[in-house]
This record gives sequence, structure tokens and C-alpha cells, in this order.
Amino acid sequence: MPLALKQVFRAQQLSLDDVCAKYPQFPRLIAIKIDVQRRGVHYTEAALSVVDPKRHQVRGSYIFGARDGQLTPVPESLVLRDGTTILTDTAPIEQNPYVVDLVDGELWLTDAGTPVEPVELWAEPAYYDKVTSSGVPMKYVITARPQRLNIFQSGYCHFWANGKGCRYCDIVNHVKEQRKEWGIPTRLRPQDVKETLIEALKEPGRFTNICLTAGSDTRGEKAFDSEVNFYIELLQAVGEVFKTRRFPSQLIATAFNEEQLAKIYIETGLTSYTADIEVLNEDIFNWVCPGKAEWVGYREWKRRLARAVDIFGRGNVGNGLVGGVELAKPHGFKTEDEALQRTLEEAEELATQGVTTVYIVWVPRPGSDFRDQKNASLEYYVRLAQGLHDLRVEYGLGVDFDDYRRCGNHPDSDLARLL
Ligand code: SF4
Repeated sequence: MPLALKQVFRAQQLSLDDVCAKYPQFPRLIAIKIDVQRRGVHYTEAALSVVDPKRHQVRGSYIFGARDGQLTPVPESLVLRDGTTILTDTAPIEQNPYVVDLVDGELWLTDAGTPVEPVELWAEPAYYDKVTSSGVPMKYVITARPQRLNIFQSGYCHFWANGKGCRYCDIVNHVKEQRKEWGIPTRLRPQDVKETLIEALKEPGRFTNICLTAGSDTRGEKAFDSEVNFYIELLQAVGEVFKTRRFPSQLIATAFNEEQLAKIYIETGLTSYTADIEVLNEDIFNWVCPGKAEWVGYREWKRRLARAVDIFGRGNVGNGLVGGVELAKPHGFKTEDEALQRTLEEAEELATQGVTTVYIVWVPRPGSDFRDQKNASLEYYVRLAQGLHDLRVEYGLGVDFDDYRRCGNHPDSDLARLL
């Protein structure tokens, strides 16, 4: 969409102040987080001058790329004054993002030159400067979120093998770039993971959860056996670091069948399992996620989520949405009201079966098929966050493994702190 049209479109939407006035029960700082994620940020030279890569955590290894298509070492996250984290996505200035600038020597989020909120930066974890015995920088083996350690096996996603990757996804382009620029290994070695974890846990009290994720791997005697076996290998290496049988952890992976899930549960110390369906509507799912549709199918994906509850327990099974992608053109929902109603109906159906649903704000990334699309309005994202949170309250579902402390990237689970 041309910039002039984008600005007209945005002018027709409710502003941050309008949305906060219309939904006074919704925390303003979380509304700000959402708005920053949907519009992106730009760092001024003055702001970047106070970023110290020795003290602050800067953007590093990740599965998906940024909205500006760059790998520049900008801060990984901003922290608001109530502790809310905003994983930042840098956007070109022409796209009218929020701007992080220096105001009287302090870092502030600003919008059109007006200071909005003071911000701080995440401290770099102590282990980021260390190297494994095989010579891999530890910051490329495990990355940090607020209190979570991410083991992102940044491998290839096999749904792209026949061009059927999710249409909002840029994993293949991004991973290639990261490997070229930083020499990140194509496959993590369990020994490197173990060594890095041991170092990370030396920092007292900082980390409380471990998360593993990667692209889908369709290979194996049964589809996805190869993915299952690799996660088991990594989780067993993680388990060697703990004295207890189980350790606080989350696996975000493909929707595996019951046999595969039981194998993971029995052979490792994993405590929670998430399989992201991405969009809660069968027709739109078939269009947006053709690989998932081909290899698992919409109804089967949902069935497997429900069956995972039998193994991991109620409240320990999650489902993630790319919030707003259900409105993508031309086959998405036509209005935000319809999208919200239909999405929450299906999320409720999952909640009745013990599956909790969270969302991330969809970022139309330049390396994806949906690069020219537009994400949803701030009002939509606020209503979606409130709706998913309300479902958790109504059905008594926790989200400890994916909340504001652990992940920090889901506006709906930021609301868990209000309980
Ligand atoms: S499952 Fe979809 S979103 Fe995830 S890595 Fe593969 S193509 Fe990308």
C-alpha cells in the first residue's frame, strides 16, 4: 500500500488515546506495547549512542527476520516502567513507526515528536560473551527472553520444500542471512546446548523456564519423527543439567500424534507443549498455512492439541495465533468484528478442552509472501488480548509457561499479572 494511503488508513483508525479512553479497564502500558509492535520502532542515532552491546542485550539469533530486513545490533527489547517488555521490530522510518530517542539524556518512546513513555533496555546475560568447547558463541546457541532461555534450533522448515510455508513466514530467507553473517550452525549440538545452559544458570535468579522451537521437519518413518527425535535429543541434554525428573519448559513444535507426544513426555523432562495453529478458521488456515494443512490438516491439528492435554495436563498445552493474519487480503475475514467473534469462538472451543490460546502481533515481514499486507488496528488487538485473557479466567487455565515473565511477547498473557 503506498505510504499516503497507509497514513489515511491509519488516520481512520482509533488512536492510542482513543482506544485507552474507549477501553479504560485495559492497561495503557500494554496498549502501548501492542501499538509499538504493530507499527514497529525506529532508533535515532542519539538513542543508539547510549546502547552498549557489552551491557545491553541486542538483537541476535532468531527464527524470523525484522520488518526492516536488517540484522543490525539494535536493542532486543524495551522495558516499560511497570516491567512490561516490548520485543522490538525495527521498521523503516517511512512506515511511520514509533521512534526511540534521547529526551534530556533519557531513552523515550516518542510518536510524531511527542514523548510517550520512558523506556529501559534489557541487560545482556552474563553468558553471552562465552563460547562453547566446540567454538560456537553461546549467544547463538541459547538466547534470552525476560526469564526464559530460548533454544531456537534455527533450522530449515520443511513446509518450504514444496513452497508451502506459511505466507507470513520469512524463516528460510532469514536463516540463510544469519548463517552468512554470523556463521550460526545449521544444527545445534546437544553438547553445546548443555554447556550454554550450565553457564546461563550461573546467573542467580534470572531464568525460570526453557523453551525449544524450530521449523517443522516432515521427515521420518511417520511424518515428523525426525523432528520429534531431535527434540528428544536436545531435551535429554537439557535434563542432564537438572537434578529433578522434570524441569520448567515449553516445546513449541508441530502438532504431533499421540504416540509421538507420549514418547516426548516419557523420554524427557518436558512440562508443557505448544503447537501453533496460527489462525482459527479452517478456510483461512488452508490458505495461510498450506504446509500445515497438507501434512496435518486443520481439524486434525485441533484434535491433536486436545489429545496433548491427556498427556501434559490441563493448562500445560498451548496454541499460538499470528494475531491479525486472519484479516489478510483477499481471503481473510472481511471485518475486524467478524474476525474477533469467530476467532474467540474457536479459542473457546479449545479452552473447554483445556488448551490455552495466546497471540503475537502479526508483522508483515519483507521476506514473506505477505510483505505488502497491513496488520490489524490497535483496537482489534486490544479486544483480542482481552478476549483471550477472559477465556483463561472463565475456564481456569493458567499460562505460566508463556506469560509476561517467561515469553513477554503475548499482549494477552501480559494481562495474567492482573489476576
Ligand atoms: S511452520 Fe510456518 S511459520 Fe513455522 S517455520 Fe514453518 S513455515 Fe514458518
